[in-house]
Amino acid sequence: MIEASCHCGAVTLSVGDPPEWVADCNCSICRSYGVLWAYYRASEVRVAASVPIDVYSWGAKTLRFHRCSECGCVTHWTKVDPAIDRIGINARLMAPDILATTRIRRLDSEDTGLYLDA
Ligand SMILES: [Zn+2]
Repeated sequence: MIEASCHCGAVTLSVGDPPEWVADCNCSICRSYGVLWAYYRASEVRVAASVPIDVYSWGAKTLRFHRCSECGCVTHWTKVDPAIDRIGINARLMAPDILATTRIRRLDSEDTGLYLDA
């Protein structure tokens, strides 16, 4: 079981397996947050929160970015369309030894929409 937790520990996300790779996206919101995304099926991930979770959407509003209302850490995004079984977890909130051995792929959302190492 892999767990990602915000700084204060009020919001946790649990998933069975570590990510094979994570995405460093250069779009305006992701570079502002400074996050690395690990992608899963939403149905694979358990989200637990002991405080309210704040949500932000922008642009086409296809994603909701969630953050802990206590410590402010961005924890994950979800699709607005519930039919799309997809979630992005902020891998920076996983244990450091997981990220230390995980490939980081640079995603050029700002321009081409492609992974720069593809
Ligand atoms: Zn928190």
